Amino acid sequence: MRLDEYLRKRDEFALQEKRFNRVYLPVFFGLLIGNLFVVKAIPESWGGWWLYLIGFFALLFGNLWFTTRREKRRVAEAGLNCRSCRRPLVGVPGDLAVTTGRCASCGGQAFD
Ligand SMILES: [Zn+2]
Repeated sequence: MRLDEYLRKRDEFALQEKRFNRVYLPVFFGLLIGNLFVVKAIPESWGGWWLYLIGFFALLFGNLWFTTRREKRRVAEAGLNCRSCRRPLVGVPGDLAVTTGRCASCGGQAFD
């Protein structure tokens, strides 16, 4: 992949992520804030607090799992992985690859 092709793909990837985050982040933080109201409305005598806590932490860690898997899949679909070691070339590793022409993980040539 040539540098100009990589830059075009990276810009397109960033734009799609921005669009996704415009919806995803308000929903996620809305659930977190909504949780405060739900907790306040539950009577203290309710015996299912442990179940609620399990559900809440399942939401938090499930979110972490979902976003990590989604990003890996999206990077691979966009073709933004290093061609030598297959590590993602987005964010700081991508900036380093653009600046140096080499993958920050393996040192292999990032572009043609
Ligand atoms: Zn590499």
